[in-house]
Amino acid sequence: MKLVVCINHVPDTETKVKIGTDGKTIDPSGVNYMLSPYDEFAIEAALKLKEQFGGETYAMSLGSDVHKETLRKTLAMGIDKAILLKDTAMRDSFSIARALADELKRMSPDCVLFGKQSIDYSGEQIPGLVAEFMGLPSVSVVVKIDAKDGKITCEREIEGGHEIVETSFPVVIAAQKGLNEPRYPSLKGIMAAKTKPIEDRQPTAVPIVVETISIQKPAAKQPGKIVGTDTSAIPELVRLLHEEAKVI
Ligand SMILES: Cc1cc2nc3c(=O)[nH]c(=O)nc-3n(C[C@H](O)[C@H](O)[C@H](O)COP(=O)(O)OP(=O)(O)OC[C@H]3O[C@@H](n4cnc5c(N)ncnc54)[C@H](O)[C@@H]3O)c2cc1C
Repeated sequence: MKLVVCINHVPDTETKVKIGTDGKTIDPSGVNYMLSPYDEFAIEAALKLKEQFGGETYAMSLGSDVHKETLRKTLAMGIDKAILLKDTAMRDSFSIARALADELKRMSPDCVLFGKQSIDYSGEQIPGLVAEFMGLPSVSVVVKIDAKDGKITCEREIEGGHEIVETSFPVVIAAQKGLNEPRYPSLKGIMAAKTKPIEDRQPTAVPIVVETISIQKPAAKQPGKIVGTDTSAIPELVRLLHEEAKVI
């Protein structure tokens, strides 16, 4: 089975992100990057499918050379080969998805796995777009996978419950938190990753159809208000929660 996991290299959740001087990109200075957390579930799912069916696992990312750092981590987790669709240009979700789909069509995988969401811009668009461009079935927010006899049954997390769906390979799957417990890279895995290949490939040029005009941080939080320090403050507290904060 040929399994490809598409991964993104995103700012570490601990990083205090600053907006660049152009007002529409992130200032990369001082930013630590990491594998987008939902993509870890996708990698673990690919490794488990390989353990079940055999075959080969690939991690693929579209971006600049800095994505290699994160691709190397996937190799340390156990992925066999990595591909960097090398591009330094800014792309929107549509353009990223088209370039990924063009490369994936050439590779003809049995299963393409994604995180359900890239935690930097949270578009939640790329898995569905790739499936559409490839003409493949797509299952989103997957929390359980059961594959046998050429069929794949997935459990999806939906509002207030779970939905069970069945489809067949080849398929596009977007992983939700809880799908599995992603493994940590072992020391052996880290050493092996140093010699595993990361191949540069040229992504197709696709026009950008959605342009970012600006990005803004949320307004600074107002300082807290101390209404009183004993029970006599309760009526005023209730009034403020009701009339000002409008939460009760
Ligand atoms: C203001 C702004 C500035 C940006 N600046 C840059 C920039 O300077 N350089 C740049 O390259 N990108 C840039 N991007 C793109 C950004 O980093 C994300 O890659 C892109 O927005 C992800 O799209 P999404 O949020 O729709 O992804 P989602 O649809 O939420 O992602 C879902 C899944 O798709 C996969 N995926 C997402 N992105 C990639 C990828 N690149 N390669 C492989 N798989 C992927 C992952 O599995 C991910 O979990 C910028 C985007 C915006 C809005």
